[in-house]
Amino acid sequence: MGFVNFESAKESSMDFGGLPVEVVEAPRGAPSNTVLGTLPNIRKVLFSLFKGMSITLRYLLHPSTVVTQQYPENRNELKMFDRYRARLKFTYNEAREHHCTGCLICEMVCPNASIIIHNRKGPVTGKKEIDHFLWRWDICTFCNACVVACPHNALEMTGNFESAVYDRRLLIYNLNAYAGPPANALKKIEDPEERKKAMEARDVYCEFTPMAGASLPGIAPLAEKKEQD
Ligand code: SF4
Ligand code: SF4
Repeated sequence: MGFVNFESAKESSMDFGGLPVEVVEAPRGAPSNTVLGTLPNIRKVLFSLFKGMSITLRYLLHPSTVVTQQYPENRNELKMFDRYRARLKFTYNEAREHHCTGCLICEMVCPNASIIIHNRKGPVTGKKEIDHFLWRWDICTFCNACVVACPHNALEMTGNFESAVYDRRLLIYNLNAYAGPPANALKKIEDPEERKKAMEARDVYCEFTPMAGASLPGIAPLAEKKEQD
């Protein structure tokens, strides 16, 4: 490794290996490798050191002002940000009625087939309605495309992020709490008994209870699928 004499470089407009090199003049003052030259740097280092230490001291004396959250100790109080995306969820009204019509738009827009919808002919209404709404948390990229595309605001993303499991089959969810028509169609059924009949409970897999690898009509457990491959 050689040294460049910038004085001579300036004078002779040296080039290195045929490439022209722009010579920038060093700032005037004490050279940085002398005691006088390093003094400003020492001042800056000491200033930033004391600044950091003063913040540490402040948090030590006033722990209530600490911004950093201690996870998992704060698990019960932890609230993620409103826009945090971690889990897909059905939206429900006060009567626990969903808004999904089974239109399949979300399934079509999902870029990696994380949504699988099974529709059926409603036993009470005789019309198409949702039977199973399956969501694969294991491959969802949380892009939010399904939420945005849904014309009925039937989906939302929530902030519960704790998803670690030992078997990926535990990451398949059935989101609809009942098989049946959406809230606006249920409204039209006046007889309460008939309305009740139109809502067939899907409690086993609903909400955040994972399907635990169980198979549904037309859906084999993931492990079986793998073996077939
Ligand atoms: S968030 Fe994106 S990847 Fe996940 S289910 Fe919706 S569309 Fe599919
Ligand atoms: S969640 Fe929305 S987009 Fe998806 S099937 Fe239901 S109504 Fe259609």
